[in-house]
Amino acid sequence: MKYNIERIKQMHFATKLLHDSFNKDTTTGSSLPPIYQATAFAYDSAEEMENVFAGRDAGFVYSRIANPSVSLLERRLASLENGVGAIACSSGMAAISNTVLALCSAGDEIVSAYSIFGGTYSLFKNVMQRFNIKVNFVDINNLDEIESRINKKTKMIFAETIGNPKLNVPDIAGLASIAKKHKICLVIDNTAASPFICSPATFGANIIIHSISKFINGYGTAIGGVIIDAGNFMWNNEKYPHLKPYYEKAGQMAFLASLRSGVARDIGACLAPFNAFLIWMTLDSLAVRMEKHSLNALAIAAELSKNGKVLSVTYPGLPQHPQHNLAKKQFNNNFGAILTVQLGSKDRAFRFINNLKLPLRLANIGDTKTLVIHPASTFCRELSHAERAANGVADDTVRISIGLEHLEDLLNDIEQSLNKL
Ligand SMILES: *Cc1c(COP(=O)(O)O)cnc(C)c1O
Repeated sequence: MKYNIERIKQMHFATKLLHDSFNKDTTTGSSLPPIYQATAFAYDSAEEMENVFAGRDAGFVYSRIANPSVSLLERRLASLENGVGAIACSSGMAAISNTVLALCSAGDEIVSAYSIFGGTYSLFKNVMQRFNIKVNFVDINNLDEIESRINKKTKMIFAETIGNPKLNVPDIAGLASIAKKHKICLVIDNTAASPFICSPATFGANIIIHSISKFINGYGTAIGGVIIDAGNFMWNNEKYPHLKPYYEKAGQMAFLASLRSGVARDIGACLAPFNAFLIWMTLDSLAVRMEKHSLNALAIAAELSKNGKVLSVTYPGLPQHPQHNLAKKQFNNNFGAILTVQLGSKDRAFRFINNLKLPLRLANIGDTKTLVIHPASTFCRELSHAERAANGVADDTVRISIGLEHLEDLLNDIEQSLNKL
């Protein structure tokens, strides 16, 4: 069957996931794309090379800039996020750093949710500060506060689809209308939801970021990141004068062009071709994985909220979650893998974690296996008490990334551990 964009658009996500972008290799019939494990690409003549370097002809030059294996993955991820193009990076943090450096200059400001991944928080609070890029942290569910923190220097609003570890859900359409009014970019980190559960572009987000290391890969085999342009932002905008030359050459693709032949190329945090292949393979099961993660997590969250040993449960799929209605509107009726519980004290949290038999005690989310961690003593340990509170982390909070095990085995394990408290 021929590649047909209209046909693909009408497909359900799970089918599009498997049949979009690549069916088989045209020369060998291989059902998986080849791994172009090459540093650089040769040409027959100096004229051909000149044309590629001048951007007159398409072609690969050097794998830090672009690589055929990586390009295929970029096209696939852009399509799954309803975007117009993508740049893959060596990690989620590289994707976020590249995005900030592509949008902001010294003296600029960012408005960001407080409740974000610890690495991003540290990048914003410590590293960017040294380069005179100021990040104003806000309660992302308070649209008035957000608007009051925007000024002439603000160049982006940043939020996560499901804030980690607070598990709050921002109103993406509400944020998009504020961003549009001020002609600034709305950047959404969609790692925790994945494109199966939420498509931020359809609610007006301009740039979508993923740590591929989590659900998109799903099997814990490779670190990676991606930046996707939704294609809905006017890049000939006086707020971003450094993008003007790219707009003149690349039009609506200006932002990605500025990364490809500027920031991302020169920073050099590129995705390795072999990692692109690993991610390509495991991405095939994203829809079934996210459905099962979500089914398991919802059932466990409901069960935990009935258990007298548990003080509170936070999960966007529970009706008592403060943004449950937003989650229902923005998500496809699946609410992700991650939940948190409060158990009364640090000691009880530790004992609960230590008595679990199945989950791995591991600092990650989105693996096939269930993972458990005590945020306050691990990835939130550098934060002050006030910062932890804004991040939804107390001394007795335990975060669980629910895996793909059989539900009954997980429920039994959690119950036996709670019974020991
Ligand atoms: C893990 C994570 C990141 C960082 O990704 P890496 O691939 O570890 O660099 C960014 N955002 C979120 C939401 C994450 O969970």
